[in-house]
Amino acid sequence: MDCLFCKIIAGEIPGNKVYEDENIFAFRDINPQAPVHVLIVPKRHMENILECDGETMQHVLNAIKRVAQLEGISASGFRIVTNCGRDGAQSVRHLHFHLLGGTQLSETMA
Ligand code: AMP
Repeated sequence: MDCLFCKIIAGEIPGNKVYEDENIFAFRDINPQAPVHVLIVPKRHMENILECDGETMQHVLNAIKRVAQLEGISASGFRIVTNCGRDGAQSVRHLHFHLLGGTQLSETMA
């Protein structure tokens, strides 16, 4: 399958990894929108949140907490975003969650 994030997870394309476990791979966004911008990605390929199941969401939730701790932004706060489909401006069709923080984020989201 020709999927950029599958290739990063497999180590075929370099990724700036910050966390990995059996189910999740997390790495720094190549075009950061905030001082902390980490992509939290289920290893199993699924296109977007519409294909996601509860067990995977549990893995994602655990990883969000862990990466926020590792990045030192648990106390100050952060934002989680997942873009879905055309109107959601999803550019990579492998489910991922943006973890954004390290500064005061904008109050607008759209
Ligand atoms: P989205 O637009 O929600 O699909 O997010 C895709 C994200 O992947 C964007 O924020 C890109 O900057 C990021 N991205 C694209 N290619 C790479 C890469 N090779 N390594 C890290 N992040 C990437």
